[in-house]
Amino acid sequence: MATDDMATGTADAAPDSAGRDFIRDIIQADLDAGRVQTVVTRFPPEPNGFLHIGHAKSICLNFGVATEFGGRCHLRFDDTNPTKEEQAFIDAITKDVRWLGFDWGEHLYHASDYFEQLYEWAEHLIGKGVAYVDDQSPDEMRESRGTLTEPGRNSAFRDRTVAENLDLFRRMRAGEFPNGARVLRAKIDMSSGNMNLRDPALYRILHATHPRTGDAWCIYPTYDFAHGQSDAIEGITHSVCTLEFEDHRPLYDWCLEHLPVPSRPRQYEFARLNIGYTVLSKRVLTTLVRDGHVNGWDDPRMPTIAGLRRRGVPASAIRDFARRIGVARAYSVVDYAMLEHVIREHLNRSAPRRMAVLRPLKVVIENYQEGVTETLPAINHPDDADQGVREITFGRALYIERDDFMENPPKKFFRLGPGREVRLRYGYFITCVGVVKDAAGEVVELRCTYDPATKGGNAPDGRKVQATIHWVEASTARPAEIRLYNQLFTRPDPAAEGEIFDHLNPDSLEILAGCLVEPALAVANTPETVQFERTGYFCPDPDSSSDRLVFNRTVGLRDTWAKVKAGA
Ligand code: ATP
Ligand code: MG
Repeated sequence: MATDDMATGTADAAPDSAGRDFIRDIIQADLDAGRVQTVVTRFPPEPNGFLHIGHAKSICLNFGVATEFGGRCHLRFDDTNPTKEEQAFIDAITKDVRWLGFDWGEHLYHASDYFEQLYEWAEHLIGKGVAYVDDQSPDEMRESRGTLTEPGRNSAFRDRTVAENLDLFRRMRAGEFPNGARVLRAKIDMSSGNMNLRDPALYRILHATHPRTGDAWCIYPTYDFAHGQSDAIEGITHSVCTLEFEDHRPLYDWCLEHLPVPSRPRQYEFARLNIGYTVLSKRVLTTLVRDGHVNGWDDPRMPTIAGLRRRGVPASAIRDFARRIGVARAYSVVDYAMLEHVIREHLNRSAPRRMAVLRPLKVVIENYQEGVTETLPAINHPDDADQGVREITFGRALYIERDDFMENPPKKFFRLGPGREVRLRYGYFITCVGVVKDAAGEVVELRCTYDPATKGGNAPDGRKVQATIHWVEASTARPAEIRLYNQLFTRPDPAAEGEIFDHLNPDSLEILAGCLVEPALAVANTPETVQFERTGYFCPDPDSSSDRLVFNRTVGLRDTWAKVKAGA
């Protein structure tokens, strides 16, 4: 599939491309007015977990606008908290952004690249008398900060001299004090209506080894002190982030206004992506992984990029999804079905068709010669002749889907039953002439006859059948394990009420053993997601090996029978 290695988000613009949004309007206006010459954006992940599909929205937006307006987008790791960040996360994030189809060229940065500069700027603020070292304990600081309705109280250390502050800050850097003993704070306004302006912390003591700077530092800048200045160093013009940072914007601006920064970025906020029946919060996802509710960050049930990839979702579908949900400031929750819809649409266009039987029921064709097989042509894609035709094997012993047979079929069930005739996809018409049961009375085998004149699926006498079913031939089919995934949570908004982990869906993973797939599905032949006809879209799982096939269901097909059943 050539569609998944695009360098930009615009290269595969869908016909229903969302087009303009308020961010793009702002950028266009800045360009038109000459306020900005080259658009520079950034995607700034904190390497404390894997990226999720919410991050994909931000990635598509930041890289997308950069491309559309002829600018560039940086990948910057916001690595200011060494207690939570790991190289493994940096590697995973890098891989995921690239897989999504975006390229930052030489513009890979880390907030830690700027630690020395940020430190100098902190001293600059001290020198101007607008930052001070506070000796209050974390508890005292929290307590004196006030509340939304009450102003905070000035710290007793707020009026230290510049010389005293400089000396203490340098000694913080030199490692003279334990964690939490002191912080550097901006001196702004303890009675501000905006809590973020009540003398926010700029630097904290953290004796921790950093993945990149090792033990060079034992004080680290806060997000608020690092972010805007990093933007300014890189010449970011539009610093686009999610709405929870809106109240941080005055602080973002305050820092830039008080420092001799080389450029003056502006922050803009949009509403984060929320999707029903799942959770897009790194904190929650981290807990799911840590407590073993899922099998790692790339578990196909996870809304992570790595999970979606393992599940067989093409990168182009994620980009398209991001484009269709658009960018706005209003809170919204996207229906999970919308994501599935986009995935299905992409896979329907591209995925080769194959046959696989998930819950096999044996069929013996009584009038077909024993020990003989034949091959029949099967088309690989109904709308894409370029995908060609493959040969599938037909013989006396076959397997069909257990669900495609009912001994006492109700009115609207059109598939196989005693005395009924159906079409085998790419094969013949068969008629059920007998049912074999085990001691428990369960159907274990069907006896059928076939009509040799219906080869290819049409009767020369023009008679019709009500159903076409899929099948595999017994001697050539390959055993496989198939993993079906359902919603991770039982509620559309699992965080709304009670303990979120109480709403985990116990049936989110269903493992089917003893499935049978056509031999073309041997792993080497199927690196991509395919459609199992009539069943859904599936892709090989990395747990597969030469003697073990494992498939993940990416997404099902709509099942009209299930609807009829539900309606009845
Ligand atoms: P989480 O809230 O899931 O822990 P985060 O914001 O802490 O995520 P970061 O690594 O800091 O994770 O996020 C990197 C960028 O991705 C930020 O600019 C953030 O605004 C954006 N982002 C995070 N979650 C979403 C989301 N659900 N929708 C859109 N953008 C998001
Ligand atoms: Mg964050």
